[in-house]
Amino acid sequence: MHFVAPAAHGPTPPVLETLCGDLLDPAVTEVLDGITGMPCVRCFACVPHAAAGPAGAARDRRRSA
Ligand SMILES: [Zn+2]
Repeated sequence: MHFVAPAAHGPTPPVLETLCGDLLDPAVTEVLDGITGMPCVRCFACVPHAAAGPAGAARDRRRSA
C-alpha cells in the first residue's frame, strides 16, 4: 500500500505518483478509505500523522473531504 497526495480538482492524472516516488496506473489502482495491511515503509515515513493509527488517518481524511 502506498500513499498518494490528494489531487487538485480536475481530471484524474494519467499516472499517480506516490509519496515514495513510485508511479501507479490509476486504472489498476484501488483507492482505500483508510490504512489497511502493511503500508509502504517509505511512504509511511513521509506521513508522520499516519503513525497515530487507522482512526487518526480516517479522521484526517474526513476533515480534508
Ligand atoms: Zn510507497
